[in-house]
Amino acid sequence: GPPEQPAPHTGEFENPVTGIVAPARLDYTYTPGRAQSDHLDALAERKVVGERCPRCHKVYVPPRGACPTCGIATTEHVEVGPRGTVTTFCVVNIKARNLDIDVPYVYAHIALDGADLALHARIGGIPYDRVRMGLRVEPVWTEGAPHPDHYRPTGEPDADYDTYKELL
Ligand SMILES: [Zn+2]
Repeated sequence: GPPEQPAPHTGEFENPVTGIVAPARLDYTYTPGRAQSDHLDALAERKVVGERCPRCHKVYVPPRGACPTCGIATTEHVEVGPRGTVTTFCVVNIKARNLDIDVPYVYAHIALDGADLALHARIGGIPYDRVRMGLRVEPVWTEGAPHPDHYRPTGEPDADYDTYKELL
């Protein structure tokens, strides 16, 4: 039949599309460079290695090859940890797809002994509502993993606030 004449639309749809599934895949080629390569090589031996700034003496973990404060190269390797202190944390209540961890669980900033930056990791081996600032923790490795699966309490007394307040 003859084509319909264009007419103004109300903006209302009988079956509106509210979402679509669009599978995506992103492949990356990452070149870690000298400092991070050394860090990754040490992790393969279950050690955590950072680098100390020759001027301000801060130990960066993971190392980026230069001190962002002083703007000079860092080259001195420093092994830190394996134990550390929870400086701050959050309770995760949303289950992530593809992540086989029951909620709630705790994700924390951990200052490894000897490091001047906190890294982050999951805390296990303790009820989520018992985790606290100052909690002393140690890594738990699983076979073949490139980094600790999580950190668990060591049983040591909590660290004094003054020992980690600069690392929050
Ligand atoms: Zn520095």
